[in-house]
Amino acid sequence: MEKIILSEKDPNFKNEIASQPGAESFMRCFTCGTCTASCPVAEVHDEYDPRRIIRMAVLGMREEVLSSDLLWMCSRCYTCAALCPQNVKFTDVISILRDMAVKQGYASRERLEQARELDRMIQTIRCRMIDNKLHPKKKNVEEIKSIVEEELNNKW
Ligand code: SF4
Ligand code: SF4
Repeated sequence: MEKIILSEKDPNFKNEIASQPGAESFMRCFTCGTCTASCPVAEVHDEYDPRRIIRMAVLGMREEVLSSDLLWMCSRCYTCAALCPQNVKFTDVISILRDMAVKQGYASRERLEQARELDRMIQTIRCRMIDNKLHPKKKNVEEIKSIVEEELNNKW
């Protein structure tokens, strides 16, 4: 397990996050793990763990949090926020962290915009695929393929 030297971390990071609308209660997290257990992304991604991201933020791990690829994995479904017993709005926290990553030079503005576009595209594909299962004769497959192909050509 990685050793964390707290004196090397940034104690202001958590206050910076908590001062923004939506993140006021994030330090109330008592690491119960309900968010991680209910997260559809954590279900398919071994390293994605909202509880861990909150812990790292509370410990002042600014660079590790803001430069992490995991910041961009959240689908912003609000499941964790709805179930959190401490009223931590993780979905809002992740949006704040993404904004901070852009403003503090850890990620480009394009990445933020493309992450939003990607979420929209994924929902489009999901709806088309459900439609395809319910009505196989409608042949949505070609449309799904072309949406995926177009997105694959849009590099971050
Ligand atoms: S559900 Fe809430 S209190 Fe529990 S680990 Fe997640 S953020 Fe923390
Ligand atoms: S909002 Fe993000 S972290 Fe929370 S359950 Fe949905 S995908 Fe997981």
